[in-house]
Amino acid sequence: HAREQGQNTYQYFSKSLNAVAFQKLAMENSLRRALDRDELLLFYQAKVDMHRQRVVGGEALIRWRHPDLALVAPSQFIPIAEESGLIVPISNWVLETVCLQIREWQDRGISPAMVISANVSANQLHQPGFVGHVRNALTQAGIAPECLKLELTESMLLDHVDEALVTLRELRALGVKTSIDDFGTGYSSLSYLKKLPISELKIDRCFVRDLPDNEDDVAITTAILALARALSLDVIAEGVENQAQAEFLMAGGCHIAQGFLYHKPAPADEFFDFVAHFNQATLSNSGR
Ligand code: C2E
Ligand code: MG
Ligand code: MG
Ligand code: MG
Repeated sequence: HAREQGQNTYQYFSKSLNAVAFQKLAMENSLRRALDRDELLLFYQAKVDMHRQRVVGGEALIRWRHPDLALVAPSQFIPIAEESGLIVPISNWVLETVCLQIREWQDRGISPAMVISANVSANQLHQPGFVGHVRNALTQAGIAPECLKLELTESMLLDHVDEALVTLRELRALGVKTSIDDFGTGYSSLSYLKKLPISELKIDRCFVRDLPDNEDDVAITTAILALARALSLDVIAEGVENQAQAEFLMAGGCHIAQGFLYHKPAPADEFFDFVAHFNQATLSNSGR
C-alpha cells in the first residue's frame, strides 16, 4: 500500500515537473516573439510628494499582453527572460520606450522636473554596452539625463562591486539618477553603500506593510531613514497603501511615496491624466 502511494506521489510529482518544464519552454518561445509582435507594454505608477501633495515622478513597470492569457505580470516572465538571455533585448526596449514616453509627456506639457524610473536587471547592468545604451536612448528621445532614474537592487551592485562602481560612476557623469530598489531586503554592507555613487534608497514594501504597528518594521524604517539622511541620499517608500503608513513615514522625514494609496500602475495615457489632475488640484488648492 505504501509503495503504491509512493508510486502515485512519484508519478504525480514527475508529471507536474514536466508540466512546469513544458510551460516554461512554451513561455520562453512566445516571449521570444513578444517583442516583434508588440505584446510588451509599460505601465506607470506615480511617485507622490506626500507633503506637498504633488506627483514628482513615476516608475515604468513592464507588462506582457500575451495573446492567450490575461495581462502577464513581470514576476511571471522576467525570470524566464533572465535565464534565456531575452532580458537584453527586452531591457533595451524598456529603456528606449521610457525615454520616448518622457519625450512625449514633456511635449504635452509635463514638467521636465518629473523623473521617471526604469527597473534594471542584473544581466542588463553588467552588459558591456549598458551605459552607451542608456546614452543612446536619451539622445534618440532628446531628453535630459536628469529626467531618467534607474532602479537597481542591492545584490546586483554587491555581487560585482568593482564593475558596478565603474558603471555607477559613468551613469553619474552622464547625469542619470540611480536608486537602490527593495532596499533592506538584500545584505548591503554599509561601507559599500558609502562608496557607491547612488542618488536614492527605496524602502521595500515588506517594511512598509505593517507600519506603524509592527515594532520591528518601525525600527527598520527609522534606521533606513536615518541612514539616508546621514549619507545625504533621497529616500522613497514603496507599497504605501493607507494613511497611517503615510503619516508615520512623513513624521520620520520620508516625504516621497509610491503605492496604491495614491495610484495603481496604469497605461501611459492614464498616468498622464492622473498627473495632470492631481497636480492641477494641488496647484489650485494652494494658489491664493
Ligand atoms: P519593483 O520594482 O519593486 O516594483 C514595485 C512593485 O510593487 C510593482 O509590481 C508594483 O505594482 C507593486 N506595488 C506598488 N505599490 C504597491 C502597493 O501599494 N501595494 C502592493 N501590494 N503592491 C504595490 P509589479 O509591477 O508586478 O512589478 C514587480 C517587479 O517586477 C518589480 O518590482 C521589478 O522588480 C520587476 N519589473 C517590473 N518592470 C520591470 C522591467 O521593465 N524590467 C525589469 N528588469 N524588471 C521589472
Ligand atoms: Mg522598481
Ligand atoms: Mg521596489
Ligand atoms: Mg519591491
